[in-house]
Amino acid sequence: MASSKAHHATGWAAGIIAAAVVMHPPAAASADMVSGVLALLAGVAGATAPDWLEVAWWTRARRLWITHRTLTHWGIGWAALLALSYHFLGRHPAAPVAFGFACGGIMHLLADWPNPLGVPWIVGRHSLRLWTSGHCDLIIVMAAWAAALFVIDDVWFHHAYGRMLLNALHF
Ligand SMILES: [Zn+2]
Repeated sequence: MASSKAHHATGWAAGIIAAAVVMHPPAAASADMVSGVLALLAGVAGATAPDWLEVAWWTRARRLWITHRTLTHWGIGWAALLALSYHFLGRHPAAPVAFGFACGGIMHLLADWPNPLGVPWIVGRHSLRLWTSGHCDLIIVMAAWAAALFVIDDVWFHHAYGRMLLNALHF
């Protein structure tokens, strides 16, 4: 896995993305600060969830109760939760939490993807085979934050900053 530090660092980015989406109309006409904060926190929790969900943390031995990187790292499951919770945004009070959690989970899978063990997106593990665990965490974290900034710029500033950057690059 990517290191847990990397999962935390990308988790905040995932949470911010989730909060931005949750608070962005028209996804939720009733969107408020509270659901944004809930989505943010759920995103942070979700980003580490695929790893702690597979540990029997309620027992003393803390053994894995399912094989590492199987069901809890299943791409379809997280994508389904994401789609479902998005659908219920503004209609069900728990939707922002579920949506944030799913954003975090997807972010976790993306962070695990490049290392050799891979991630079971659909069936069977797939790996980008770019590097081994813990290496290049910085790249993952930076990519996550770039995505977060892009989403924030998109939903809150309508690409105002993106355009400014492009203009600056073109002189
Ligand atoms: Zn993992």
